[in-house]
Formats: sequence, structure tokens, C-alpha cells
Amino acid sequence: MTVSEALRWATGQLAQSSRESARLEAELIIAHVLQKARHELYLQPSHTLSHDEQTQLYELIERRGHGEPLQYLLEYTEFYGCLLRVTPAVLIPRPETEELVEFVLQSTLHPPKDVLDLGTGSGAIAIALARAWPESSLVATDISQEALALARENALRNGVAERIRFVQSDWFSQISGRFDLIVSNPPYVRTGYFAHAPRELLYEPRVALDGGPQGLDALRRIIQESPRYLRSGGSLYLEIGSDQGQAVRELSAQTGAFVNVEIRKDLSGQERFARLRLDCTPSPANGRRRCTVQAKPG
Ligand code: GLN
Repeated sequence: MTVSEALRWATGQLAQSSRESARLEAELIIAHVLQKARHELYLQPSHTLSHDEQTQLYELIERRGHGEPLQYLLEYTEFYGCLLRVTPAVLIPRPETEELVEFVLQSTLHPPKDVLDLGTGSGAIAIALARAWPESSLVATDISQEALALARENALRNGVAERIRFVQSDWFSQISGRFDLIVSNPPYVRTGYFAHAPRELLYEPRVALDGGPQGLDALRRIIQESPRYLRSGGSLYLEIGSDQGQAVRELSAQTGAFVNVEIRKDLSGQERFARLRLDCTPSPANGRRRCTVQAKPG
């Protein structure tokens, strides 16, 4: 089988399972098997695949046909300009989470000194922030040791490993000290959703997606406990479900600690992000207000 035959065959196979981007996926899978860049396929259309390459191609096309996400087959994805390895031990970072990073960066005037990323998974958010803020120190947690090992590997690959401390922790359970900024994309999907979820979602770790009956279990814990881990003036940034904005406002109000809650929409117009800001408490020494993280106005 030559490269061009492989492309034709794989595209046909993927189209059968009604994939919108069958050709592109075929190119990516074949390039992965041949360990080449996608455009290189067109430089050697009559190159013949070895027996092993052909076997691997059949296997990957079959797995994709069953609904396994493309990123798990390719074992990598791109997030905010970083190449990340992904395996079924971690959630595949979504474009919305890139928007969360964008939201954090846009709203933060001075790079914070200490940043905490809760439930880091592949390390996506922590790595993107570490690259954007070369002076910041980060702590990234996950409950899964396997996820942490992968996140550490991704941090190394992206040259930021020395500034991110990876900690196995059930949200704040192993965390001490205070941070200028806390960020999290926690599991926020309702448990009931999984009975009818698209097949692809079932390949991802349930622990990274399932937020309990209302999808609020993790968000509740994070919002309730964050004030004890934030410095004055610090912010908690969250990715949330499109119908959870009001619940997040209420959870925030219950803490009595946050002075401001901002809910933001994603590019598809759905409420998707929250920023909860702590008060800048008067400093006892001189009575002046001190903020460690300052917000841009507006
Ligand atoms: N947005 C993701 C999805 O719909 C959910 C991510 C999460 O729970 N943190 O699959």
C-alpha cells in the first residue's frame, strides 16, 4: 500500500462512520504512523508503507471508527501554542480552556508570584501560564498519579518544569500556603449526562468530567475552600458548565469572602468562565489597601 492509496482507503473508512473531517484525520493518522509531518505525505505519495506501518494504520482506523478520540490515537494535542502528550489518563484539553487561559492573562495586570492550578490533568493550564509568566511559581495538583506524571513530562517538554511543583492532592487536601491566583477546570458535567453522552466522551477519565448530580460537587469544594488559600486581592478563575453561572454566584455569596463575581461567555456564546475576586483587606501596618494581584479596570 502506498501513501496515496493509504490516504484514499483511510479517508473512505473514516467517512463511513460519518466523520466530518475524514480526510484531515486520515492525513494526521497516516503522518503519525510514518512519523512525518502532514505535508510530507504529499512529497512522497508513492512511498510504500511497511508491513508494520500498515498494521498500525489498520488498528488506529479501527479504534477511531469505534469513537476513540483522535488525540488519544495521535497521543498529542496542541494547547495554547504548547505541544502536549495526552493519554486516556487525562482529559483532552478543550478550546474553551484555552479561552480560560486567555481570560486569566487578560485580567491580570501584573504577573502573580504564586499560582495554583487545581486538577491539572495534562498540565495544560499550568504550562500555558508558566510560559506566559516567566517569573511566576506554580503548584499544579491532580488526584491521579498517572495524570501528574504526564503533566510533569509535558512541563519538561515545554521548558517550564523547574517552576511547576506537581502535588497529588484531592483539591486542597495536600495544599498549604497562599496564592495570588487559583485556576481550575474541574469536573462539572452532571452524572446523568453520561447515560446519553457522545461515545467519544466515554474514553476520557470520568473523574475529570463528572461533577456529581448537579455537576457542582467539585466547584462547591473549590469555591468554599479557596478563600483560605488566596492572598488578599487574589482571584479564583473557573471553567464552569453553561447553566452553572447562577449556582456559582450563590456558592460565592455563601462564603462571604469574595467581593466580586464575573461570569464570562465562551466563543459559542455560552456562559463558561467565572472569576471570583477576594477583597483587598486593609493592611494593619499603615491602613492602606494592598492588592497582590490587580485587575485591569472594566
Ligand atoms: N467542557 C467539557 C465537556 O463538555 C467538560 C470539561 C469539564 O468537566 N471540566 O466535555
